[in-house]
Parts: sequence; C-alpha cells; structure tokens
Amino acid sequence: MSDLSRPKGPKIIAVANQKGGVGKTTTTINLAAALVEEGKRVLVVDLDPQGNASTGLGIDVDDREFTTYELLLEDLDLNDVIQKTDYDGLCIVPATVDLSSADIELMSSEKRSFLLHDALRQTQMDGFNFDYILIDCPPSLNLLTVNAMIAAHSILVPLQSEFFALEGLSQLMMTVRDVRQTGNKELRIEGVVLTMYDSRNNLSQQVESDARSNLGALVFKTMIPRNVRVSEAPSFAMPVLSYDSQSKGAVAYRALAKEMIQNNQT
Ligand code: ADP
Ligand code: MG
Repeated sequence: MSDLSRPKGPKIIAVANQKGGVGKTTTTINLAAALVEEGKRVLVVDLDPQGNASTGLGIDVDDREFTTYELLLEDLDLNDVIQKTDYDGLCIVPATVDLSSADIELMSSEKRSFLLHDALRQTQMDGFNFDYILIDCPPSLNLLTVNAMIAAHSILVPLQSEFFALEGLSQLMMTVRDVRQTGNKELRIEGVVLTMYDSRNNLSQQVESDARSNLGALVFKTMIPRNVRVSEAPSFAMPVLSYDSQSKGAVAYRALAKEMIQNNQT
C-alpha cells in the first residue's frame, strides 16, 4: 500500500471548486455516508458559511453552538466542536453564517493559512480514529479554501456536467500549485468527479469527453447522474443514501466511495 508513507491518522480530503452549485456539498454529504456504509469512520468539516453540509446531515441551526468558526478563530479544539450525527461513524464540525467573517479575520492572524491544518493535527492522536476527513469548501478560492488545501492530503473536485464546466479549473489548479509551493508540497489531486450527469444530454457527454481527454486518469470512472432524489434529500436533512437508498444517486455515490477506497489501496 502506497499509504504506508502517510503518518498515522485519517486521510484528509478537501472537496473544492470555486464555482457554486457544482455539487461540492452534495458530494461531501453523500460520499461521507457511502464511506460510512463501507465501514469507515468519517468526519465532515463544514467550511462553508452557508452551512449546507451541516443542514444536510441533520444538524439544526439551533444545535450549532460550537462550529468551525470557533475551531479556527477561538480557543476551542476539536473535542469541543465535533458533533455526532444520526449516522453511526459519521461526525461533523458544523458551520454557521458566523464563518462568513472568518475570511477577513484570518488575514490578521500570522498563521492564517495553517489554522485548520493545526486544528486537525489532533486527529492523529489516539481517541480520534477517523479514517477520512472530508472538508466541504466554500465556493471561492479564499483563505478558508486555502486553509482546507493546506490541511488536506488531496482535493476532490466536483465538476458539473454543464457548459463552462472546465473553465474555472485552471485557476483552481493554479491555487493548488501555490499551496504546494507555500505550505503543502504533498497536496495531491484525489480526482475529478462529474456531477449532475445526464447521459441523454449531448452537453453532458461533451463535458465528459473534454474532461477525460484533458485530465485523463484524474477523472473518476464513476459519474454522479442528475437525479431528483439527490436534490430532495437535503430538505429532509438526510444523505440520499438514507432518503432513497436505491435511487440512482445513492447507487452512484456508493460506487464513487468504492472507487476512491480502491484508488487509495493501489
Ligand atoms: P455546491 O456545494 O458546489 O454549491 P451543491 O452540492 O449545493 O453545490 O449542489 C447545488 C444544487 O444542485 C443543490 O440544489 C443540489 O441539491 C443540486 N444537486 C447536486 N447534485 C445533484 C444531482 N446529482 N442531481 C440533482 N441535483 C443535484
Ligand atoms: Mg456547498
């Protein structure tokens, strides 16, 4: 296993794309749920002030007293901010709109890009036996996203099967390059996953073939279909894997989890 070189502790994956609405949060929630079904222990870190990952995993706004904001900018540590979800083996550090000011507040901190990295270092200690940490990034290449990239072993990029899908990728990759030079030279690309794929739609097929010819093996074989059950699940505060276990979306996220685990073993 190539992973033997990694220090003890969870694999940390930042789910990032500066475009909004491409499926970052949906992928974070459902990949986390699918990894848990595979017997993995997973922590989701909600790094988006919109807090959609927290909502989608059933954490009521009233139950978000301690959040990513306090983890990064106040004197709280992971023990204080981690919450259990209704799903065995799945925990979350929730977020609220408070986090929207964090980007500015971080600027004045000397360690501004390393705060999440330092906060998550604790997960390498006994008592925190997570296998994976998934960080749901905001739709921006701001300091929060940079914190995620510095903290992570790899980034997972959801790509919406839509016009202009590939457009923002070069900017994203430039940020990855900067992060490699300034703080995390080991940062890898976990993969690019096509989301909201519609096989009957020529545009989806075009985006797929462009992505595969430009990015090659970085693109996951598994694609996430556009599926109404996926978009309904968050309003029931559930992953689609629980909301409609046999839906196409649930099946696809299970396949993605298996493909990712497989990639990490070879
Ligand atoms: P992001 O976090 O990148 O902003 P979201 O995960 O919130 O994107 O997804 C944007 C919207 O698209 C949401 O309303 C979500 O429910 C919907 N959506 C995401 N993936 C799918 C899918 N596979 N099928 C149908 N709707 C989807
Ligand atoms: Mg989101």
